[in-house]
Amino acid sequence: MKKVVKFGGSSLASAGQFQKVARIIRADKSRIYVVPSAPGKRFSDDTKVTDMLYTCYGRAVREKDFSGQLEAIKARYQEIIDGLKLSISLDEEFEIIRENFQKKIGRDYAASRGEYLNGKIMAAYLGFTFLDAAEVIRFQKEKEFNEETTVQLLAERAAQSSGVVIPGFYGATEDGTIVTFSRGGSDITGSLVALAVHADLYENWTDVSGFLIADPRIVQNPKAIETITYKELRELSYMGASVLHEDAIFPVRKAGIPINIRNTNQPEDKGTLIVEGTCRKPRYTVTGIAGTDGFVSVTVEKAMMNSEIGFCRKVLSVFEDNDISIEHMPSGIDTMTIFVQKDAFEEKEQQVLAGIYKAVQPDHVELESDLALIAIVGRGMRATRGTAGRIFSALAHAHINVKMIDQGSSELNIIVGVRHEDFKTAIRALYEIFVETRL
Ligand code: ASP
Repeated sequence: MKKVVKFGGSSLASAGQFQKVARIIRADKSRIYVVPSAPGKRFSDDTKVTDMLYTCYGRAVREKDFSGQLEAIKARYQEIIDGLKLSISLDEEFEIIRENFQKKIGRDYAASRGEYLNGKIMAAYLGFTFLDAAEVIRFQKEKEFNEETTVQLLAERAAQSSGVVIPGFYGATEDGTIVTFSRGGSDITGSLVALAVHADLYENWTDVSGFLIADPRIVQNPKAIETITYKELRELSYMGASVLHEDAIFPVRKAGIPINIRNTNQPEDKGTLIVEGTCRKPRYTVTGIAGTDGFVSVTVEKAMMNSEIGFCRKVLSVFEDNDISIEHMPSGIDTMTIFVQKDAFEEKEQQVLAGIYKAVQPDHVELESDLALIAIVGRGMRATRGTAGRIFSALAHAHINVKMIDQGSSELNIIVGVRHEDFKTAIRALYEIFVETRL
């Protein structure tokens, strides 16, 4: 059994957190490959080391004195080293970093030092081998990620050893220029390592006990999802639920490796297992409920539009020409409605309307803003009758008017559109009926 364990920034923000992480790793011999993030926040208005590095480098680029900022970063690491009673020194490393900042070596290089240094400390503390991500995570010249070479390099360099620390978030081009993934990218590194070493499990340790059934800012103490499929996860993350970097899914998914989201601060919790498929029956009919606010609906009406060939295409091409992405498209007999994101639509509103009038000569076009979409997602819905009925009765009891409904043909999700002011009440009502009263 081989496991890749990735620890997020808050799991590595202080010496105390490092100790918890080490206990977790030592508790299971199969936790062989460790991917650390940079130190995150120790308390809510603390600053992540990655952000400190960006600021510090920004000063270097503008040729301002950055020594104070660099000292503050060094102090964050020194606090960890002292707290762990390690005897390593980062003096030389910081001297190199200072010189490179002066040379304006690159923003990605600057950000990557957060993970690099944390990896060094982690390896020293665990007695594991340090493998610099710059040597194994390969990018092309244009910062394009090269998966094939990366997997090959990782397989050669990491797979043989036991007890390896590979810092997350960055890699390098062949000539050694450091390139980072987008923010939160250590998740991707972990996934790539898991793929390359044929891991049995990719454990992603963070500060929550997995994906929650609903947003904790809306529902009080929502339960965690025990098992979720990749497809369900995609539906929920599309609606804004996120714990994991989206690009972290693909490498492990294609290799059939499950991801287990775990909580460093509550290691006894099982967390959420993300799998390709499962015969495990979900505990509730719905796996998760997620929603996003800030949509506009554009309803186009024209008598006999259904028999007009090419009508929908012409309307949609107006949005395409204006570079606006369409989110949903429920339709009636002589109406079609297009849901778009308000931010993207607002500034181009008049162009789009003019375009629609020109393209299809509608009888009427109606706009409605301040709409929210809520996705009720669950593989359990396919086998259950009356899910839609329960959704509507829950919403009706909460005095919420449903503006739109869209059920995917996979029967994996039902999306309802409600007014902005009903958004939170709707999510609470749905959580209550499916989870609390378990109907
Ligand atoms: N440290 C980086 C960030 O803050 C990458 C990561 O944590 O995954 O985005």
